[in-house]
Amino acid sequence: MTKTAHSYDYDYFVIGAGSGGVRSSRIAASLGAKVGIAEYKAVGGTCVNVGCVPKKIMAYAADYHGHFEDAKGYGWDIQVPERLDWKKFISRKNDEIKRLNGIYDGILEKAGVEYHAGYARFIDEHTLEIDCPEGEDKTITANKILIATGGTPRKDMVPGEEHTITSDEAFFLEEQPKHILIIGGGYIGVEFSHIFRGMGSKVSICHRGPMFLRGFDDDIVACLHEDMQKQGVNLHFNNQLQSVEKKGDTLYAHLSGGEVIECDCILSAIGRIPNVQGLGLDKIGINQAENGQIKVDEHDKTNIEHIFALGDVTNKLQLTPIAIAQGQKLAERLFSGDPEREVCYNNVATAVFSQPPIATVGCSEAEAKDLGYDIEVFKTKFRSMKYILAERDEKIFMKLVVCKNTDKVLGVHMIGLDAPEIMQGFAVALNAGATKADFDRTIGIHPTSAEEFVTMKSSN
Ligand code: FAD
Repeated sequence: MTKTAHSYDYDYFVIGAGSGGVRSSRIAASLGAKVGIAEYKAVGGTCVNVGCVPKKIMAYAADYHGHFEDAKGYGWDIQVPERLDWKKFISRKNDEIKRLNGIYDGILEKAGVEYHAGYARFIDEHTLEIDCPEGEDKTITANKILIATGGTPRKDMVPGEEHTITSDEAFFLEEQPKHILIIGGGYIGVEFSHIFRGMGSKVSICHRGPMFLRGFDDDIVACLHEDMQKQGVNLHFNNQLQSVEKKGDTLYAHLSGGEVIECDCILSAIGRIPNVQGLGLDKIGINQAENGQIKVDEHDKTNIEHIFALGDVTNKLQLTPIAIAQGQKLAERLFSGDPEREVCYNNVATAVFSQPPIATVGCSEAEAKDLGYDIEVFKTKFRSMKYILAERDEKIFMKLVVCKNTDKVLGVHMIGLDAPEIMQGFAVALNAGATKADFDRTIGIHPTSAEEFVTMKSSN
């Protein structure tokens, strides 16, 4: 017998109180639905607890070393501190995360979302069991169910992998590593390189490809490569971790190229896997990709009519604002009676909080060519005014990729001071269809670095 909507415990039940789950449950409840949510770790998910937020806090801490050095050039009579008080910093960071957890709890409570602490798994298409760490396990039923369970760092199962850590643990290390080896050249590996080098650790990176940050514009990546070499980061490209040995407190990382790196911490940053194990998806026949990601259509619907999935557990872009937008639009589509609410995936701007930072929106030069555009490229490289007195040997590089036929700006790329803060506005411009002529007739803000974006001449 098919149940009617009002015979279920909930109109909408969300598994996972991360970026997407919290937003979707809150909006659904505000639209009048009876909503429940299950979370078996900490409210706020990856972003708040072991992702964007603690990472950015750590990147800020790392930046201070450079700020102290720069200050001397401006006449500040200071001694550059020799070390960071790691324990104090981690404890301050943890306090801030706790504060944010409290805010998220409050958001759910205020919206009237019922919170269940525990691990949820499917019993059937409308029924979930929640393993509660304290007290009785529960069984609940729901008319519509959202899977927003996110992802987990992946590790290479090489001999000695138990001596390696992932980003999840890097946020809670008891001691600051003296020499950290980072495996993986994606954005997370590159960002942790900046974090630990800035804090004074020696840093090595091992990456299986010929260059890190695949998919970013080649010129931007080349600039970062040059800067990281100047900073003394040891880069081992075309290499993989083969095994790890531990002798006392020292780790020996054997790389495929034959080199052995002696260090006291190995951080595996080789990618993430979707949190689907144990969810009981096979029981109800949810379609998944080979790597486990849940397959969804353009409306975040799985192959089962009333079950949805979004965020990192799916095969779409893995970023917090994407999960939030998906959660918001899904709740609106389901409960506001407006089926037209769509997430716009055009020109999603992203940043890498490296040193210097990178920000980008739209096509890289290579991507634009692959897509068949006839393009014109505009580039500029200069030293930030801030770094002249500071005598910091670090440049800003900017690049525009423009379609010759339409004059539309296809890509905006920057590496250098404040790049992530500058790029957001250009994402709006690209979504509005800005042309190079629009950039050219725009008056710059002087004196800033960003004004260079509206005065660039062809470099073809
Ligand atoms: P999550 O936020 O991961 O939430 C999923 C939640 O579901 C988790 O709390 C989990 O405990 C819970 N859960 C899982 N299974 C169950 C179950 N069966 N029952 C109950 N609960 C369950 N993105 C950016 O946009 N900018 C950044 O700068 C950035 N930096 C990052 C840095 C790092 C180190 C990492 C790891 C990620 C970063 N991200 C960044 C990515 C971003 O954190 C994710 O894209 C985002 O958190 C995904 O949100 P989500 O809702 O899909 O999943």
